[in-house]
Amino acid sequence: MENLEKAIEEIRREMPGLKLLENEPLAAHSSFRIGGPVRALAVPSDVTSLSKICCLLKEHELAPFILGNGTNLLFPDEGLQDLFIISTEKLTKLFLLPDGAIYAEAGVSLSKLALFAQQNGLAGLEFASGIPGSLGGGCIMNAGAYGGELKDVIESVVCYYLPEQALYELTNENCAFGYRTSYFQTHPGCVVLSAVLRLQPGDGEEIAAKMRELNEKRRAKQPLDLPSAGSAFRRPEGHFAAALIEEAGLKGYRIGGAQVSEKHAGFVVNVGGASSHDVHDLMRYVRKVVYEHSGVVLEPEMILLGPDYKLEDHGPAVPRHRIQINDPEAVTGGDGEG
Ligand SMILES: Cc1cc2nc3c(=O)[nH]c(=O)nc-3n(C[C@H](O)[C@H](O)[C@H](O)COP(=O)(O)OP(=O)(O)OC[C@H]3O[C@@H](n4cnc5c(N)ncnc54)[C@H](O)[C@@H]3O)c2cc1C
Repeated sequence: MENLEKAIEEIRREMPGLKLLENEPLAAHSSFRIGGPVRALAVPSDVTSLSKICCLLKEHELAPFILGNGTNLLFPDEGLQDLFIISTEKLTKLFLLPDGAIYAEAGVSLSKLALFAQQNGLAGLEFASGIPGSLGGGCIMNAGAYGGELKDVIESVVCYYLPEQALYELTNENCAFGYRTSYFQTHPGCVVLSAVLRLQPGDGEEIAAKMRELNEKRRAKQPLDLPSAGSAFRRPEGHFAAALIEEAGLKGYRIGGAQVSEKHAGFVVNVGGASSHDVHDLMRYVRKVVYEHSGVVLEPEMILLGPDYKLEDHGPAVPRHRIQINDPEAVTGGDGEG
C-alpha cells in the first residue's frame, strides 16, 4: 500500500500529462455495473506511455492490472488498492496493412473490429460483432461465439512482458489459444498491445447479413437488457452450463440484486443494486446445487477480483487472472525487441 502511494506520486511527477484518475468507481467500467473504487486508473495515450507507467510501477515492485471493456470481470464493492491501466480509451489504432491483414491495438472493441472487416470486404470476424469486449480482453479469453473464435483469425500478437520490460511478438501457435483460454491467461505478466488479424476476402453485403443474423440470435437468447458479465460459468466438458443450471431448478433464482437470468440460465444478471457479494453468493449456491444435482463442477468463466472470494468449497479453486511481476516462466517464442 505504501509502495502504491509512492508509485502514484512518482507517476504524477514523471508523467504530468498522463490522465490518472484516483479512487475511480469501478462500477462505471464494468458491464455488471458493480464495484467500488480502484485507487488509481491510468489512461495511457499510447504504448510508450503505457510502458513508462509499467516501468515506474516495477521500481516499486508493483504491476498494473490491465482493463479492457470490463465485460468479463466482477469487481468487489470494497474497491481495490491497485493501479489499473485502461486500454479502451486511447490504445485504439486500427488499419489495413499493405498485404490486406488488419492491424489493431488492444483497446479496439471487437464490434468495431468486426465492422471494420466488413467495410473492407473481409470475412471471418462476423462471430465477434456482438461480443462486447476489447481485442486485448478477447485475446486473453480467446473470445468466441457461434462456431468462431479469435484463434481462427489472429496471425500474431505483440505483448509487453512485465517482468522483463520487453516486447515480444507471439505467433498464433505461441498464443496457445484454447476454449476460453490462451497463453496470456496461464502466464500472467503479458500486456497485450496489438494484434494482426488475417481474414478472407468476402462480399460486404453477405458479411453484414451474417453479422445481423448472429446479433439477432444473440438478442433473442441472451439477457442483453440487464447488466451482466456474459456467461457466468465455462462450458463443462460434455455438458452445457445453462442446461445443468436449469435442470437443477435454478433459472430465475435470486440472491439480493443478483439473479440467474430468466432468459438464459448461463447468465447471472444484476436486476438492480446487486452487490459483488450477491453475485458471489449466487454463484457459490449455483455451484453447490448443480454439483449435488449432477455431480458436475462448474468453473466460473468471468474473472472474480477481490480479497474474499472463495468458491473452492464445491470444486477447484477459481482461476484469478492477475498479472504478477515475478512470474518465473519467460514468454516463449518471438524475439525480444526492447
Ligand atoms: C452480454 C455479454 C455477452 C458476452 N458474450 C460473449 C461471447 O459470446 N463470447 C465470449 O467469448 N465472451 C463473451 N462475453 C465475455 C467478454 O465480452 C469477453 O470475455 C471479452 O473478451 C472480454 O473483453 P474485455 O475487454 O471486456 O476484457 P475485461 O473484462 O476488461 O478483462 C478480462 C481479462 O482480460 C485482461 N485484459 C484485458 N485487456 C488486456 C490486455 N490488453 N492485456 C492483458 N490483459 C488484458 C484483464 O486484465 C482481465 O483479466 C460476453 C460478455 C457480456 C457482458
